Amino acid sequence: MLGYDTLFFTGDDDWQMVITALNEGRTILTRDTQIMSRGVIASGRLKAILIRSDEPEQQIKQVTDELKLDTVQNLFSRCLECNQPLKERTREQVKGRVPAYVFRTQDQYVECPACHRIYWKGTHWQAMNRTLEKLRQG
Ligand SMILES: [Zn+2]
Repeated sequence: MLGYDTLFFTGDDDWQMVITALNEGRTILTRDTQIMSRGVIASGRLKAILIRSDEPEQQIKQVTDELKLDTVQNLFSRCLECNQPLKERTREQVKGRVPAYVFRTQDQYVECPACHRIYWKGTHWQAMNRTLEKLRQG
């Protein structure tokens, strides 16, 4: 949502996640205290954040506070499914590929070059934006 390059790790091999994070300069976000006790993280060689809350909104707040992330500039600039930077599309380019109501009411679109999902500033976008606004105001 915030436009940051993010990799969702789904395997159960923690070591592979650690290696990937080291190689790609990533920060690990985890709820697993076991991972936090690994030498490479405890020593500070690899940055990791232990997520404290069960609540998604509080989780976002913790991560953006601790990493001092910009929560304004690049909102919704990446695909929520596959992390690719989104490309702007004209109304004509999305004709027939979005619901008719959306086509009638929306002017701005972006498309994921990988999965070809099309995004627009509809109600889902507005709801996410309100959540982020609330978090910004603490
Ligand atoms: Zn995608």
